Parts: sequence; C-alpha cells; structure tokens
Amino acid sequence: MASAPASLRLRLDGAALADNYRRHRDMAGVPAIPAVKADGYGLGVREVVRRLEAAGAPAFAVATWPEALALDRPDLELLILHGFTAPAASAAAALPRARPVLNTTAQIAAWAGAFPGRAADLMVDTGMNRLGIAPSEVAAAVAALSIHTIHSHLACADDPTHPLTLRQLAAFQAVAAATPGHAHALANSAGIHWGRDFSFSAVRPGLGLFGGRPHPAAQSLRVVTPEAQVIQVRHVPAGETVGYGATWTAHRDSRIATVNIGYADGIPRAVAPHLHLQAGPTRLPVAGIISMDMLAVDATGTTVTEGDWLQLDWDLAHLADAIGASQFELLVRLGPRFDRVWSG
Ligand SMILES: *Cc1c(COP(=O)(O)O)cnc(C)c1O
Repeated sequence: MASAPASLRLRLDGAALADNYRRHRDMAGVPAIPAVKADGYGLGVREVVRRLEAAGAPAFAVATWPEALALDRPDLELLILHGFTAPAASAAAALPRARPVLNTTAQIAAWAGAFPGRAADLMVDTGMNRLGIAPSEVAAAVAALSIHTIHSHLACADDPTHPLTLRQLAAFQAVAAATPGHAHALANSAGIHWGRDFSFSAVRPGLGLFGGRPHPAAQSLRVVTPEAQVIQVRHVPAGETVGYGATWTAHRDSRIATVNIGYADGIPRAVAPHLHLQAGPTRLPVAGIISMDMLAVDATGTTVTEGDWLQLDWDLAHLADAIGASQFELLVRLGPRFDRVWSG
C-alpha cells in the first residue's frame, strides 16, 4: 500500500498537558481522575493517557466500553461513565480494573447479575437531570453492591455566580454524609475552581487539562495548535474578491495564501472573522469564507509561500466566546486528517 504524509498537523504540548494536570490536582488537593472520553477530547487518547499517567493520574474516565477497550490497557483503572448493560459483559470481563459508573437501577441490577461482588461506581443526580440515580436511591444501591466511588456532576460550574452549583454541593454533601466509608467525587475542571469544598475524595478534570478555560479564573496552558500548509499564493488586484460568495474584497493589491484546512477538519465557518493564522510572529487574518478543505489568509506584505506551514491561533476560550460555541466542540471536532505530533 502506498502512503502519503499527512498534510495537517496537530501540535500537542506534552509539558503543558502535564503542567495543567498538576495544577488542577494541586488546586483540589486530592487525586485527579482525568476525563479522556471522545478520544481524549480529540487529542488522541492513548498518548494522552500515557502522558497523564506519567504526571501521576491514578485512573481515567471514558464514556463507553468500546472507548475503554480501544485503550488496550487492561492494567489501567478505568471508569466507564455511561455505566453498564448486559451486552458489555465481555468487555467488562476483559478489563478487570474497569468500573462502570452505574446510572440507573436497571444498570445496577445488570451489574449485580453479571459480576456479583465486583466493584462499581455510582452516579447520583444532584440537580443536573442528565444521568444518575436519585439521592433517595443511594442507600439501597450501596447495600446491594460493592460501591467504590459515589459521583455526581455539576451542570453550571463554568458560571461563577450560578446558584445551582451551591445547591448541587449541598445535595452531594448530604449524600456523602449518609455514605461514610465510600469515596466521593463531584468536581469537573470548572468545579475545582470553586474551592476545596468541592474536592471530596477525588476530582474529574477534563477541559482544563487540554488547554480550555473551564472557569473565568482558570489559567490553563495551551496544549493544542493546529498547523496547515499553503497550497498556493496568488496576487489579487485591488477590487477583486476571494472565495465562495465573493464575500471578501481586496481593498489594496493583495497577496492571498490558500491553506489546506477547512470546516471538515473542525474549523467552524463562524470563526473566520476571529481567527488568525501565524507565519512565525506574523499574524494573517482569514480572508472570506472557510471552505470544506481550505481557507484563505491575507498574506500581503509577507514572504509566505507555497508549502509553508502556518499555525492556527487556536485560542479555545476566545474563539468559543466570539462565536457562541463551546470550547469542547472546538477541541473534539479537530478531525482525522491531522497527524498528532507531541513535543515536551
Ligand atoms: C466530561 C466529564 C467530566 C470532565 O468535565 P470537564 O468540564 O471537561 O472538566 C467530569 N465528569 C463527568 C461525569 C464528565 O462526563
């Protein structure tokens, strides 16, 4: 089979990832179990896990059993956030250190039937109304099963004034008080920034590890930088337009570079007015509309030329704010055409 080099790169900063991990763990003062669902938030889960393990992570949370199997690491302590149903029994048998985070009474019954006595975790809903049993159902679950950690999840911790967060904390404190002898975990990345009342026995950070800003007070280092290559550079005379819809007009004689990255790679069309590409220190604004596999930048006055690699200034919080999108989407949609290249 012939092969060709990838024409896009995702530069991944391993030192920044490790630093972000230690920052969240030290802020919480308890073990931090990274959430690495959706292929490690799009970064490539195996390498993310390897690096976070080296930084001290004791366990990892994925969404599903196929994600757990794909890690190919039966030695790892894993949490499966979507829980357990009978068809996952062979996966669970192959991963002796994995624990489902059981969300419903049916899941609890299925686990007790398939793996009597084997440890599992429990998700309790404290007001998000997404996943989990009610606090009133916890006592029966704890009596029926070998429960390791009892979890809940915060709905609004990214908003430092949202009243639901303190209501969820109070509800979870009551659950914890009623279940001494178990471990308890509530905080995602944002929750860690609410202070150590939210720490309990462990925390489950995700976004903040990967360079997002989960909370206005958060200061994570950037981990992810997409890089793309110039396919063609052209002279566009003043008055002519660039790209689909002819939405961009050259107001001077311009040098336009067409770059091999587009919305199919996870660059939303809406970021066009807010995104810059960098040629070294030189910032190049996007010119016109983002196509499926291409975009254009205004490289007037630069020496940018065919084959040059340009870096996208992928500031997750800034871009998400600018277009009303989520930082999570700006990470996990970075597509399969990238070579994922780690440094540090
Ligand atoms: C994804 C997830 C996390 C991590 O959340 P971030 O906001 O990315 O820090 C923690 N806990 C649960 C249950 C999750 O689903």
